[in-house]
Amino acid sequence: PQSNDSILQAINLSKSFGGLKAVHQASIDVKNHSITGLIGPNGAGKSTLFNLLSNFLTADEGQVLFEGNPVQNLPPHQIARLGFLRTFQVARVLSRLTVLENMLLGTQNQIGEHLFSVLLQPKKIRKQERESKEKAMNILESVGLAEKAYDYAGALSGGQRKLLEMARTLMTNPKLILLDEPAAGVNPTLINQICEHILSWNQQGISFLIIEHNMDVIMSLCSHVWVLAEGTNLADGTPEEIQNNEQVLSAYLGE
Ligand code: ADP
Ligand code: MG
Repeated sequence: PQSNDSILQAINLSKSFGGLKAVHQASIDVKNHSITGLIGPNGAGKSTLFNLLSNFLTADEGQVLFEGNPVQNLPPHQIARLGFLRTFQVARVLSRLTVLENMLLGTQNQIGEHLFSVLLQPKKIRKQERESKEKAMNILESVGLAEKAYDYAGALSGGQRKLLEMARTLMTNPKLILLDEPAAGVNPTLINQICEHILSWNQQGISFLIIEHNMDVIMSLCSHVWVLAEGTNLADGTPEEIQNNEQVLSAYLGE
């Protein structure tokens, strides 16, 4: 059923919390190599939709296809290993670990989960640890956080934490990254830098789905925008089409 130019397709996803239909038969499509936007008023269900797409929450109904394959039965860490990564609206970094340690979280899995490989191949493991550290330092360098590598993540600004969380997704060779409000609470200078990074990662072939309230960010980055309101699809189109859509404008009134 999937068209092969889509990296992510979600069809009729629904999720209720008690009596509240947070997401109701929402569908979304992200073209391969695109930067796609997801907007909508507060409480529209955007973050919940992200949780359904990445299986941090189980959908009541609907289907999610990543590269044409259903992923709903996979736990989030296995979805991540396929190259489908996400960040959170409130960045999830561990304050009491250093910036570098945060980058390396999760890389141990790739080194070998079997006790035997730990016992029998210590040299190989040390080599892989060295390579992971080198990769992490290169990524930190590219986002301007290398000088903070040995600082506690808790000492970073809110914006730097968001940047660190994005940088960490690059450790897993992502094909698609979902970003939940990358510019929220971030100072304008850092917002510009984050946008530059997103564009450059996109040029390296990574697709993005971005929730964002900052319309300048959406307009400057996205080729296509989906609008959610009250848990369901309101519109989708180019940024220009969305900006001039009466229904979208009225959904935002009263915000
Ligand atoms: P958005 O990200 O678009 O602002 P959310 O997806 O966070 O919206 O929330 C959609 C609706 O679902 C809101 O009314 C919110 O209060 C509710 N909601 C979100 N998560 C939960 C939860 N874990 N339990 C109960 N209600 C929730
Ligand atoms: Mg949200």
